[in-house]
Amino acid sequence: MLSILPVPILQDNYVWLLRQGERALVVDPGDAAPVAARLAELGLTLSAILLTHHHGDHTGGVAELAAIWGCPVYGPAGIPMVTQSLADGDSLQLADMDLRFEVLAVPGHTLDHLAYYGQGVLFCGDTLFACGCGRLFEGTAAQMQHSLARLLALPAETLVCCTHEYTLSNQRFALAVEPGNSELLWRSRTDAARRERGEPTLPSTLALERATNPFLRWAEPAVRAAARGQGAANDEPVEVFAALRRWKDGFR
Ligand code: ZN
Ligand code: FE
Repeated sequence: MLSILPVPILQDNYVWLLRQGERALVVDPGDAAPVAARLAELGLTLSAILLTHHHGDHTGGVAELAAIWGCPVYGPAGIPMVTQSLADGDSLQLADMDLRFEVLAVPGHTLDHLAYYGQGVLFCGDTLFACGCGRLFEGTAAQMQHSLARLLALPAETLVCCTHEYTLSNQRFALAVEPGNSELLWRSRTDAARRERGEPTLPSTLALERATNPFLRWAEPAVRAAARGQGAANDEPVEVFAALRRWKDGFR
């Protein structure tokens, strides 16, 4: 029996906690205290920490949690706290939980960024967000578009667990790109109501992202037209994506 829950930390981050029986793994613990409190409350033993990339809001709590639990830390090779480094194409099998993940390199937001896919769940860090995607801090638009295309190829029912609650502001931008997307309109109302109740908007599904996330919709005529209006020179996926990303960077 597997269950998954977001632990809110810092300003708008989520640490994902995947629970199997008495054991758990956590992804991107940027702060230790709220995660330790949640584990204690649920009576869970921490079996592993997974990291998607090196940013402090994803790694700030790792040293403290690893010291408390003595558990392995999986992630990109360049992060000092990582005890078992992973790269594209690796498969991660945990010793004391019955879980298996495929590791995908998804450069763009950072160059070291990894995503983990297994048990129908995708941990995608700051690469794919609900109705959005990460900023290009280190990589190029071509790298990010290629990374997103790889995630898009996973099964439609995949649960998307990203690391920030950026959904409502992403949806304001998405509606500027595609004001006529009825599924997006429906989703943005549903998610606004969730936030009013203090609930997370995540996880979503890849099917929902395909239908409503402009950064995955480079093939849609309406998205291509909007990208042209923002300087895209042609309808190539990378060109459409790059125009949207630049537009969003300056969007208020
Ligand atoms: Zn980041
Ligand atoms: Fe982040």
